[in-house]
Amino acid sequence: MYRLDSFMAELERKNPAEPEFIQAAREVIESIIDMVNDNPAYVHGKILERITEPDRIFTFKVEWEDDNGDVQVNRGYRVQFNNALGPYKGGLRFHSSVTLGSLKFLGFEQTFKNSLTTLPMGGGKGGSDFNPRGKSDSEILRFCRSFMTELHKYIGPNTDVPAGDIGVGAREIGYLYGQYKRLNDENTGVLTGKGRSWGGSLIRPEATGFGSIYFANEMVKAVGDTLEGKRISVSGFGNVAWGVAMKASQLGAKVVTISGPDGYIVDEEGIGTPEKWAYMLELRSSNNDVVAPYAKKFNATFVAGKKPWEVPVDMAFPCAIQNELALEDAQMLLDNGVKYVVETSNMGCTADAVNYLIDKKVSFAPGKAANAGGVAVSGLEMSQNSMKLSWTEAEVDEKLQAIMQNIHTSCVQYGTQDSGYINYVKGANIAGFKKVADAMLDFGY
Ligand code: GLU
Repeated sequence: MYRLDSFMAELERKNPAEPEFIQAAREVIESIIDMVNDNPAYVHGKILERITEPDRIFTFKVEWEDDNGDVQVNRGYRVQFNNALGPYKGGLRFHSSVTLGSLKFLGFEQTFKNSLTTLPMGGGKGGSDFNPRGKSDSEILRFCRSFMTELHKYIGPNTDVPAGDIGVGAREIGYLYGQYKRLNDENTGVLTGKGRSWGGSLIRPEATGFGSIYFANEMVKAVGDTLEGKRISVSGFGNVAWGVAMKASQLGAKVVTISGPDGYIVDEEGIGTPEKWAYMLELRSSNNDVVAPYAKKFNATFVAGKKPWEVPVDMAFPCAIQNELALEDAQMLLDNGVKYVVETSNMGCTADAVNYLIDKKVSFAPGKAANAGGVAVSGLEMSQNSMKLSWTEAEVDEKLQAIMQNIHTSCVQYGTQDSGYINYVKGANIAGFKKVADAMLDFGY
């Protein structure tokens, strides 16, 4: 019989100074502990101890030369968290905040997210504390080359398949794949998010944002509502925010904010035209990490140094980074009438923000459900690479929609309370956990 407090105390003792990993683990374990205790095979099989311990972790030195000719040293990581359901699968994050603890939280979350997609993928995550901000293209190239020179030893199309995440987009995947090919002399699906002409899947760049809107569409339908006319705030301005802005607009909603480390933009006309979407990509590729220029270009308002959660909206989509929406932000959103919060970044909301929103019966989707569209299309890319064929955009989009609907159905199945309120956190955690745990028991130890 597990007790939450004693289990968490032991987990913290074993993983000191990793607050994000502990936060992610607590959120999952709180949701599943009763169900686990009701199942003697889980308790006897020590499933919680086993599922919170990564299979293995690699850390390595990444040496590269900057444009001044100075040698730089960063640390690279790959956390192979759990491969019960398939090859380790999950992105690489290049960001100054990257630590082993943050990648363990992401790898842990990825395991359940990937399970929710129903595709055969285990969970992993990797990256580096390398900060791409202000780096030249050739510095990025040299870094990626050095990173892959070490990483290639640990990955493979049937063992571990990395992809992009914050700071790793199509350009970086190109440089990483190029080096992998030089070292391994093969064309395989060892990375996803590849370019379209060399094995990539159509709509992979859009997939996380599109998937999140498809999920949100199911959330509104579940309570007899519609996306039409909804006012939406989005944080971030990268790939995920871009996909959300496009698909939300296409379905009749209006995205009024984006944000960056410098502050946020309010565009009352909505970020709803191809020109604005193209400009988001331009801002991102400039590597300056700022959104302020958007205000000048489109006659919008820039609010320096703040997050967009003070803007009154019907729906909020955190799309930037973990813990970007805190309790006071959740309170402000609710005071201003928010009805739905769709966490599209991984663990974008703090634990007390999530508890508050659920307590107040706001419809809240956790990242592992709402943002699973990205890795789902990565899974489809792996299938296409294995079969050596390529599906059309419409085919991939149709599969993505079906996967997001299916994840929503699983959340409803395991998360609907007697009152009718859908606790998506509970639903996603139980549905994601069960498949991984059952497979682990099937395999013995
Ligand atoms: N980084 C994305 C995520 O958090 C995508 C991972 C992938 O495609 O493997 O799910």
